[in-house]
Amino acid sequence: MISLARLRFLPFLLSALLAVAACAGQPQAAEPVLALARQHEAPLLETLRTLCSIESGSRDIDGLEKAAQLVAKRLKALGGEVELVDGNKDVYPMAHTPEKVGRTVRATFRGTGSRKILMLAHMDTVYLKGTLEKQPFRIEGDKAYGLAIADDKQGIATIFHTVAMLKELKFDDYGTLTVLINGDEEIGSPGWAQSMT
Ligand SMILES: [Zn+2]
Repeated sequence: MISLARLRFLPFLLSALLAVAACAGQPQAAEPVLALARQHEAPLLETLRTLCSIESGSRDIDGLEKAAQLVAKRLKALGGEVELVDGNKDVYPMAHTPEKVGRTVRATFRGTGSRKILMLAHMDTVYLKGTLEKQPFRIEGDKAYGLAIADDKQGIATIFHTVAMLKELKFDDYGTLTVLINGDEEIGSPGWAQSMT
């Protein structure tokens, strides 16, 4: 479950990014940013519905691939250079590490500035496959419910919409903005280390 109030996190994240710009000498007025964030609230809920409707357990390679393809498509549509990086579980193997781990999506957005921004989230989940049928995404009052909605589908959704907002605000005062979304966080990110290199 996630409180819709939590979605107000989005403008704060964006404000933090814009603070980076302000330091670089390009202050942005807060009001247009907040207004845009409010416009994104309903689309963000739709994104959450889509993400929560894909079962992507850490050991469910087919489900993880489905999620990775969706994440890659969305980031590509936002103008990112997108790569699907194979996780190498031998970099940091643990006793419970499965034979195969999900791929990481890495998207790079190039700006006109010099600073580097990294946004991280993960698409794998901990619940058992088949639970989705019993607990589909739904909104009741001011709360949204969905499997893995807080951990970490909202992280992915927030990144999509933050990048979209930056684009709509024509903000590109960064050298690179890198989005990294892995599929093995809940099992200790055994393939993650390689993706970071
Ligand atoms: Zn998590």
